[in-house]
Amino acid sequence: MKTDSDFVVPGGQVQTSAPEVMGRIERRWEGLRERVEAKLQTLKGVDRRQESRLLDQAAKAGTVAKRVTWLRKAADSVTGSAAPLAACRKGCSHCCYIAVMISRAEALVIAKETGAPMNPLAGKYTMANVDEDSESYKAATQEAFGKPCTFLKDDVCGIYSSRPLQCRLLLNMDEDALLCQLVEGSTINVPYLNTQEHHVDSVVILGAHQDYDDIRNWFPMTEQQ
Ligand code: SF4
Repeated sequence: MKTDSDFVVPGGQVQTSAPEVMGRIERRWEGLRERVEAKLQTLKGVDRRQESRLLDQAAKAGTVAKRVTWLRKAADSVTGSAAPLAACRKGCSHCCYIAVMISRAEALVIAKETGAPMNPLAGKYTMANVDEDSESYKAATQEAFGKPCTFLKDDVCGIYSSRPLQCRLLLNMDEDALLCQLVEGSTINVPYLNTQEHHVDSVVILGAHQDYDDIRNWFPMTEQQ
């Protein structure tokens, strides 16, 4: 007999909000908070001092590029212990079809490391006073919905070692990607690892007033892609 996990579609496939699709999502949320909490309990003893040290290094770094490097290490230290418990796997690309907000500082580092042509005119948002309910956040989210990230190749990140902080920090703590799937006209809650504080620290260290934009606007698709 098929289970709800058997209905997970490939990344980028936008489903209609048909009753069977929404029913699977509702069923998944039954007891999900408790299941995720139980998983996270196993991480309670994890030493977070390494993360603090790395964030301190980032804050003290003399150049923006060095700050980004330290912030990447800090992000990897946050998610390293949780990753084996998450649903995220190589080849799963649902989160590469949603907005990935990055700062100009991060975009410049990615451009330098990867050689990808950067659009200097992007950067129409700032993170100062932005939260998930703000109009600009919603606009960016809607614009990117269902569009592949410029760097996605055959469902795999083509710039893995240079991938943005947001990509490093996004971990779905469920057992599969059912809730990561895109559903037309619906915002589906995903039980992501709570990295909010870390995000805020990163924004502060890089500068909340600098330009931010979705990765697709910093790095538009070229004809070769
Ligand atoms: S940078 Fe890589 S991981 Fe992040 S959205 Fe793009 S393809 Fe996915």
